[in-house]
Amino acid sequence: MTQTAADTVTDLFIIGGGINGCGIARDATGRGLSVTLAEMNDLASATSSSSTKLFHGGLRYLEYFEFRLVREALIEREVLLSAMPHISWPMRFVLPYHKDMRFESETPTSKLLSLFMPWMKGRRPAWLIRLGLFMYDNLGGRKILPGTSTVDLRSAPEGAPLEDRFEKAYEYSDCWIEDSRLVVLNARDAAARGAEILTRTKVQSARSEDGLWHIETVNAETGETRAHKARMLVNAGGPWVGDIIQTKVRVNSREGVRLVRGSHIVTRRLYDHDKCYFFQGTDGRIIFSIPYETDFTLIGTTDAEHEDPSVKPECTPEERRYLIDFANHYFRKDLTDDDVVWTYSGVRPLYDDGASSATAATRDYTLKVDTSTGAPMLNIFGGKITTYRRLAESALEKIGAELTVTKGAWTAGVPLPGGDFPVTGVADQIGALKAKYPFLTDFWAKRLVRAYGTEAAKVLGDAKAATDLGRDFGATMTEAEVNWLMDREFARTAEDVVWRRNKLGLRLDRVQIEELNTWMTQNRRGASAAAE
Ligand SMILES: Cc1cc2nc3c(=O)[nH]c(=O)nc-3n(C[C@H](O)[C@H](O)[C@H](O)COP(=O)(O)OP(=O)(O)OC[C@H]3O[C@@H](n4cnc5c(N)ncnc54)[C@H](O)[C@@H]3O)c2cc1C
Repeated sequence: MTQTAADTVTDLFIIGGGINGCGIARDATGRGLSVTLAEMNDLASATSSSSTKLFHGGLRYLEYFEFRLVREALIEREVLLSAMPHISWPMRFVLPYHKDMRFESETPTSKLLSLFMPWMKGRRPAWLIRLGLFMYDNLGGRKILPGTSTVDLRSAPEGAPLEDRFEKAYEYSDCWIEDSRLVVLNARDAAARGAEILTRTKVQSARSEDGLWHIETVNAETGETRAHKARMLVNAGGPWVGDIIQTKVRVNSREGVRLVRGSHIVTRRLYDHDKCYFFQGTDGRIIFSIPYETDFTLIGTTDAEHEDPSVKPECTPEERRYLIDFANHYFRKDLTDDDVVWTYSGVRPLYDDGASSATAATRDYTLKVDTSTGAPMLNIFGGKITTYRRLAESALEKIGAELTVTKGAWTAGVPLPGGDFPVTGVADQIGALKAKYPFLTDFWAKRLVRAYGTEAAKVLGDAKAATDLGRDFGATMTEAEVNWLMDREFARTAEDVVWRRNKLGLRLDRVQIEELNTWMTQNRRGASAAAE
């Protein structure tokens, strides 16, 4: 059965509920545009839950002279941190230095270096790293995050897990971000401002007629199709951006994406301190080792070509081996396959700039408006989690050239739901929550504040004891929390909950997850409604 939204015409129809689609939906709704967003699976079910989860400038992009991207991302880190101090926090990165370090000989920096200092070909000398870190400290408006320092690994605790040959390191700042929660909070905020957010809703086709877009969607749960009309189409399909252009809208375009898979492995916690490592490999690549979910360590990532977006990305045995070998080059105690408790993989939808290698392909974004069909369509290529808010502002500039947008940029510094407290206020939030709900353990209280910020008390309501929160699904997840996630955060299945709304999949077993799924299926209340 096809439902038609009668003669309702929205300003924007956005395809894709990853960070870029949801970021644009929030910004546009806040400027008074009417918005419908369709996501074919769960919000953040593709690339935007599979990142390394850093708000970072991208130290290594300096070697590719990507100064625009690095500067924008560096400035953006603190803008974002201040608007979401629950799901983002500062982190220190320890970069061990050894004189044998290499870097990819094809980077512009490497080529320049070997032109003037041929004996340095392929080497990454200490002064070059210091220069890079000096730029990293000073390119973007750094006010909250501390700058670079040096670490004596022979005496500092950061040296303890590393092999003895690493005696010296540099330490710099970036930020952590809970990527999938960032997407959901943007969607919630967009919905609270009036956007229609449709999950499990795939765009089947879009055609333009008399200057309007006619879009057909199908709901994956009910099979119902629905017709929509919009003045402008935004293609934020991430890895599917090309598929949408070619098979859903059927327009000719010279622009393309390059799909580059990146995988991560997760182990039990490998060291006691709370800093990350930035490891440089003999192949010129870098990987991170990051404290993860209190009791785990996250290691990644890889760069592998991925031909087809419909093939689910998975960490291959070769990628897993590569990451283990890379880490073992640094850690005193060797990792084995048995140490890996989970892996995940995502596909970067990079703008195809014709670069030779996947590592070299630009991480910057490109926005292209196509008016060839008579109605405007904005295609989004590339981008980083870190630059999603700026990408949305750039998208609104393009949209403003096609539609009437009367309000200017507004999202800088405006908190996401639950983020209305100071960057330094997490401990106070946890203390206040524990005082109000004395039955919470430290882990539980911290987990709730890190997920829901100032809204944690709304999740718990007027509970006086843990039993007031309904069924216990394990690892501190209760019926009250699952209801919140279904009612306010568009969660439909156990997978949505345990891998994207929280990461309790790391602590629950298969049976517990199945029980949660059964309970959610029996207790669903219609299609996920908008927040608030
Ligand atoms: C391994 C890896 C590590 C990364 N690390 C970082 C990092 O640390 N920091 C950082 O800033 N960035 C990082 N990135 C980059 C960042 O994750 C991506 O740039 C970003 O998530 C892309 O978001 P998106 O919204 O464009 O795509 P996606 O998140 O993939 O969203 C696109 C959505 O469109 C939907 N869709 C597609 N076709 C249709 C259709 N026909 N109908 C309805 N919906 C449809 C899909 O289901 C999908 O959910 C990393 C990326 C990878 C892969």
